[in-house]
Amino acid sequence: MRKPIIAGNWKLHNTIPEALDLVEALKKGLANQTRVDVIVAPVFTALAAVADATSGTGIAVAAQNCYPEASGAFTGEVSPALLRGVGCKYVIIGHSERRQLFHESDEFINKKIKAVIAGGLAAILCVGETLEQRDSGAMMEILHDQVRKGLAGLTAVDMQQVVIAYEPVWAIGTGKTASADQAEEVHSFLRGTLAGIFDKSTSEQTRIIYGGSVKPDNIDGLMERADIDGALVGGASMKAADFLRLIHFQQPE
Ligand code: PEP
Repeated sequence: MRKPIIAGNWKLHNTIPEALDLVEALKKGLANQTRVDVIVAPVFTALAAVADATSGTGIAVAAQNCYPEASGAFTGEVSPALLRGVGCKYVIIGHSERRQLFHESDEFINKKIKAVIAGGLAAILCVGETLEQRDSGAMMEILHDQVRKGLAGLTAVDMQQVVIAYEPVWAIGTGKTASADQAEEVHSFLRGTLAGIFDKSTSEQTRIIYGGSVKPDNIDGLMERADIDGALVGGASMKAADFLRLIHFQQPE
């Protein structure tokens, strides 16, 4: 019912030529696959080139961030309309690196999500707990809060333009993946949270993807779980062979 998403977050990596080489390798390896929505998120300066190179293929382009205002005296910022203009379809919002390094609050993230939706793009809202929060037993409360505040004021119709990414902070770039059981427990909780905020049908239609050291050797186990609808991938998305293996995840008959 929910089409899987495999999304690559390239972070601050890949020049335009490197990005185009990676895209060419992905295009070759993907042929005409339609089972999965494939997304790549290059740096701002490579967005236009990657969007041109992937136009008409099954690969969609995401920005890694945006600013919630349409225009004005906001030096260094980029609006959703400008991202759409260069061919983006998605924007990653509230990645833990932005929350931690750039002090983004849930309220600011909420403004960005509203601007992304109003701009005709889809938002990938990242939520996740730190290890201290998990160990303290406050994890579910914190995740519930991030989702509720991030999506404040949205309607069930708006949710058609939202994907949730559960990314435990302790698993990002660390090589420590949440086990499939740990991830499924949170995904199922988040689906219940969406049902409480919106309704059951919205919660069943919203794609909830997992991120945190997803690799070729753990993707299949994660994708077997009922509430895990895909992956947001950092490190392994920058090696074509690894990313292709993730897209070609295996499911039991
Ligand atoms: C990420 O950047 O969102 C991420 C999950 O990174 P990694 O796969 O490298 O842990």
